[in-house]
Parts: sequence; structure tokens; C-alpha cells
Amino acid sequence: MNPTYQVGIIGAGFGGLIAALKLKHSGRSSFVIFERAAEIGGTWRDNVYPGCACDVPSLVYSIATEPNPDWNSAFSKQPDILRYLKNVVAKNDLAEHIRFDSDITGLEFLEEEGCWQVTDRNGAMTTVKMIMLATGPLNRPVIPNFKGLETFKGKKFHSSAWDNTCDLKGKRVAVIGTGASAIQIVPNIAPEVAHLSVFQRTPAWIAPRNDRKISSFEKTLFNYFPFMQRGFRELRYWLAEFLGKAFVGNETVSKLSSSIALQKLKKEVNDQKIRQKLTPQYKIGCKRVLLSDDYYPAFNRPNVQLITDPIDQITANGIVTTDGNIHPIDVIVFATGFEAADIKVYTKILGKNGTNLIDLWAMTGAQAYHGTTVSGYPNLAFILEPNTGLGHNSVLHMMESQMTYILQYLTLLENSGDTAYLDIQEAIQKACNENLQKQFDGTVWASGCRSWYMNKNGLNTTLYPRLTVQYRKETEKINKNDYQIITH
Ligand code: NAP
Repeated sequence: MNPTYQVGIIGAGFGGLIAALKLKHSGRSSFVIFERAAEIGGTWRDNVYPGCACDVPSLVYSIATEPNPDWNSAFSKQPDILRYLKNVVAKNDLAEHIRFDSDITGLEFLEEEGCWQVTDRNGAMTTVKMIMLATGPLNRPVIPNFKGLETFKGKKFHSSAWDNTCDLKGKRVAVIGTGASAIQIVPNIAPEVAHLSVFQRTPAWIAPRNDRKISSFEKTLFNYFPFMQRGFRELRYWLAEFLGKAFVGNETVSKLSSSIALQKLKKEVNDQKIRQKLTPQYKIGCKRVLLSDDYYPAFNRPNVQLITDPIDQITANGIVTTDGNIHPIDVIVFATGFEAADIKVYTKILGKNGTNLIDLWAMTGAQAYHGTTVSGYPNLAFILEPNTGLGHNSVLHMMESQMTYILQYLTLLENSGDTAYLDIQEAIQKACNENLQKQFDGTVWASGCRSWYMNKNGLNTTLYPRLTVQYRKETEKINKNDYQIITH
């Protein structure tokens, strides 16, 4: 049986589009992207909350082969990023490869044929020689199960499912959570709401963002002299790598970064008691370092209140904290993050021996060889999970490195015969992961804090524990001896 397509990609966000782009650039045309929504963009399509923007500079948060000389600001806003992705699709004729409203619910490896059967929610089946999973780690929103949550009479929604029909003007609004999404939402809604209660469980480390508009002069320069933009991109990239040293054990850089963040807090928040509550008590970088120019000053506003007493319960008209205070609330925004570490991608990914990968990972924790291939699940590659996330630089760089590896994998597969499959050897995968987990020793991520980087057993299944240059080296050349090549 000939598969319908040589490659199937799941997800038309950054990961899936980078994969498609690289396939196209390599001269391949037999691929399909399954996208569950009616539009491309992934997280940049779904997150439309006020102030949604990228906290990685646009210079590096863009695809290497698709520079954009027309970014409007140093840190791009969600509409600009979505527009960029749409332009990439149009410019590279990728739309014809995308199957929208195609929510994949099952994957099954057909050993005899050496291909995957892909089933969508409506039962439609497609076969592909190789499957690439690019669903992203941040699409499974978490709303904590607060006591009384269902009794709340006002509107309530997660930051990633912003309710645009809900007018916040003059309302008493609660934002629960103070992570990357909350710090963008708070300053953007504070001026219009009557009262804003910010419920903080753990204060984040917040560094200066230094966002600015890109002038038309700069845009013209970048348009006419692309090498200049490439040069600035390189500088930005290496600066991020340098600052990343703070996370992987360099105490000097760590102290420098902490001191800059604390000075910023002192300068931007007037009230000493509020400053104290906003001061993090864990090592910088253990949780994601946030960048903002306007979050701290929001707490100088008379209508913004920082609440640090834990939430006891939610009632019909408000939130009660454990100190007994009742906070009257009309609208609740859950900026409470995503389930990233306990990866539950689909209902089923049935590998060579019929085991569902999700059941396997529930026992072992998510793991793959270089975050990409999984033993027992041949002809399959992950893009961006597990252990390929970053706390210091652009994940697009990781995806591009990963695709360099995946394309070599695909070439090896294609050269091995029609029904061949490539399976990473279990012992090789195990050794790679043991080594990876060891590399967390001495890093900030192992310094003891609760973060979405860890799964429920305390295993870091999301981050790559080194700088991106090391990952680039590790994925630059495939070693075919790492794989069992079955040619039937
Ligand atoms: P997050 O950073 O995980 O923040 C979740 C917040 O909710 C934390 O403050 C957490 O407190 C709090 N929380 C969770 N459960 C709670 C509970 N039961 N009671 C009280 N508070 C609770 O989530 P996020 O802000 O959505 O961001 C997630 C990730 O998305 C980011 O780290 C980033 O990678 C990405 N993101 C990126 C951008 C960007 O600009 N590129 C923007 C937004 C998001 P604790 O800290 O105590 O757990």
C-alpha cells in the first residue's frame, strides 16, 4: 500500500509551518498539514488577550529564512506575528498543503506497510509514511479546580480563550496568576476596569523589556540592506545565549540579572509593602523570567490591588481568601497557565507494539531522543516537545535545529525502501535522556521551585538544559547507527 502522503504534519503553528517550509525547501511536495482550527497560527491565533505580545525579540523570533524587515516593534504584538505567519504561508504556497478543521484523534503505526494511519475526529483516515507532531506545549489550558468555581455568577475565562464579548469597562475584575500572560493583561486592562484584583501565588522575576517602535528609517534599512538585519539578529541571539549562562550555572551572570531585576522593582513600585510582596524568593530563572515595562507601574494605580493570601473559595459574587477577606468580583480571568509537562497530545498514538505513547509517558515521563524520536514509534518525530523548550532564547531556533535532524532522518527513511521504518534504539534513547537529565544538575531549574517545566513527579520534561548552540551541534548530523532500520 502506498501512503497517501510522504509526510503528515499535525499543527499549523510555528512548528508545523517551519516543518512544511523546510520540506518544501528540500524539494518535497508530498506532505499535508492537519490543522484542527479553521486558521493557521497556533498559540498566536488562540491568544488574543489585551496586550498579547511576544517576550522574545522579533529579530530572533522569526524564521531564519523568512526575515521580516517590517516588524513594527522590538517585541512583536500578537496581530503582527499572526500576520507574519500568514505572509510566510502565502509567500511559500503552503496553503494548498493545509487541511483545516482536521482534528486528529488517533495515530496508528502499520508495521507491515511502514507507515502511519491518521484518523480525524470525523473518522476520516489518511496514511502517511512519516508523521511530525507540532502541536506545541502551550495549548492545554489549566483552570484550577477552586472550591465553588461553578457557583460564580459573573463571566469567567482562561487567558488563552479571551472573551471579546465581555466588556470590562467599569467592572470589578480578578486576574488569577501572575505569569507571562498575566503580566501583559494586567497593565492593559487596568485603565478601563473599576477595580482590578491580582491574585498572586508566587512573585515572578521580571526584567526590563525595553520595547520600542521600529522606525521607518530602520525598516527601510532592513529592506534595502538585509545583511544589517541579519547582523542585529546575530547580536540579539548571542546576547540571549550569554544571558542564558545565568540559568546553566554561571553565578556572576545570575547575580547581575537578579540585581537588574530588583533595581527595576525598586524604581517602578512606590509602595514598599507591595514591593516586598512582589520580590521573588527563589533563584532567577527557576521559573520563566518575565519581561515587562508596564506591569510593576500598574500597582501604583489606586484601582489595582495585589492579593497574596491564598484563594480559599470562589462564591457567586466574588473570591474569598484564606484570611477571610471577601473580594467582590464581576469577571474572573484565569491566567493560570497550561499543562505543558505532562504531555497528553492525542487520545491515541499507537506504536509498533500497540502501546499508546501517552500511557507510556504517563509512567516514564515524556522523553524522546534529542526531543525528537521515540523508541517503538518509528517514522515519527516531535517538534518542540519534550525537553526542547527554552527559558532564555527563541524556540524557533530549536525547531530549526530539530528540522535539520528530521530532514536527514527522512532522507535515510526514503533511501531505505518503500515499506522501511526507522526506530531509535531503546538503549540509545535511554542513555540520551539520562545524560540530559544529569545536565540539569547545577542549573537554576534544579534549584527548587514549582514551575510548569516539571511534570507531576518533579521531572523536567519541557526544557533543554543547555544553550541552543549545544542543541544545534547535537542535531546537526544524524548517526544512522542509532537507529534500527527495518526494510522488511
Ligand atoms: P504561567 O506562566 O504558568 O503562569 C501561571 C500563573 O498562574 C502562575 O503565576 C501560577 O502561580 C498561577 N497559578 C496556577 N495555578 C494556580 C492556583 N491553583 N492558584 C493560584 N495561582 C495559580 O502561565 P502563562 O502566564 O499562561 O504563561 C505560560 C507560558 O506561556 C509562559 O511561560 C510562556 O512560555 C508562554 N507565554 C509566552 C508569552 C510570550 O510573550 N512569548 C506570553 C504569554 C505566555 P505559581 O507561579 O505559584 O505556580
